[in-house]
Amino acid sequence: MDLNNVKNLINELRSKLNKWGHEYYVLDQPSVDDLEYDQTMHKLIQLEHDYPELVTLDSPTQKIGGRISEKFEKYIHKKPMLSLGDVFSYDEILNFNKQVAKETGTEQNAYFAELKIDGLSISLHYENGFLIDAVTRGDGVVGENVTANVKTIKSIPLSIPDKRRTEVRGEIFLSKKEFEKINNEKLIAGEPLFANPRNAAAGTLRQLDSAVVAKRNLDAYLYYYLCEENLTIKSQTEALEYLKYLGFKTNSESILCNNLFELENYINEYTEKRTQLPYEIDGIVLKINDFNLYEKIGYTAKTPKWAIAYKFPAEIKSTKLLNIFPTV
Ligand code: NAD
Repeated sequence: MDLNNVKNLINELRSKLNKWGHEYYVLDQPSVDDLEYDQTMHKLIQLEHDYPELVTLDSPTQKIGGRISEKFEKYIHKKPMLSLGDVFSYDEILNFNKQVAKETGTEQNAYFAELKIDGLSISLHYENGFLIDAVTRGDGVVGENVTANVKTIKSIPLSIPDKRRTEVRGEIFLSKKEFEKINNEKLIAGEPLFANPRNAAAGTLRQLDSAVVAKRNLDAYLYYYLCEENLTIKSQTEALEYLKYLGFKTNSESILCNNLFELENYINEYTEKRTQLPYEIDGIVLKINDFNLYEKIGYTAKTPKWAIAYKFPAEIKSTKLLNIFPTV
């Protein structure tokens, strides 16, 4: 392909991804499925890898998804909220582990494996034991302050038994049952339906009327603990135990995998089980368990290098009901 053709193709892929990103993150109204988005993104990543002189700072490959709505007060994250690199096969996980091994000195790395809940990330700030701010990821640097809405979520504690300044992050989601209930109500009211539970959760959390949010039964799993004064918690296993002690809901399906064999078994198990879970997951997140290795393994501008998301092959998510009627 000559350079002009490559440039044209890159521009075409970028404009598609920008349009789809806007529909997904800002309007909560995707027009293509995640698989098509992911494949297009990977085509662009490959081209930019082959022609590094064509990479631009505003390329969708360089940005963390979400945008910030004017409806909410802006909040600058104390620590950027990154995205995750993704892989689509076990072979790619092995390659990822080889990259990690360059820093850890061994391929025998212990990973904490968690379900990748298909919702939207949230950052919760506690001071003197009280929830003071709840913020969306936004573009990773600046998020939206959605505290009033988050306070309606019953599984998020308004106070915790620790007075130190603490940040907790996790995923807000809607169960499959709640999603169906909301869409049935919308159907009866003649309103456009939500495309999937992720979009329904994102659309609900960014409602201006907290009373509407309160009725929707959003839920949350928390998986990230940050307290600068903490000196004792040194692994993801310990962090989740402490989050549980503080009163947060953590996902009980997560496990520590001491080797790649255990990891492969876990992935196979949840590839089978995923449709039986009461909430949607779109993959498995693998995180190096030992926090001391985080800085050593490092970060890219957009993702940590010590974690990766394995994405499941796409499944047909829409129900009959959703095929017939327009969606938002
Ligand atoms: P991502 O959702 O693929 O992965 C990162 C996110 O995973 C984190 O920010 C966090 O919110 C979430 N997560 C869930 N469980 C987690 C856990 N246990 N530990 C850590 N994180 C966890 O990345 P992204 O940047 O938010 O979104 C990109 C993806 O969104 C794309 O790969 C695509 O699938 C989808 N998308 C779809 C469209 C579309 O039009 N269909 C458009 C844009 C994006």
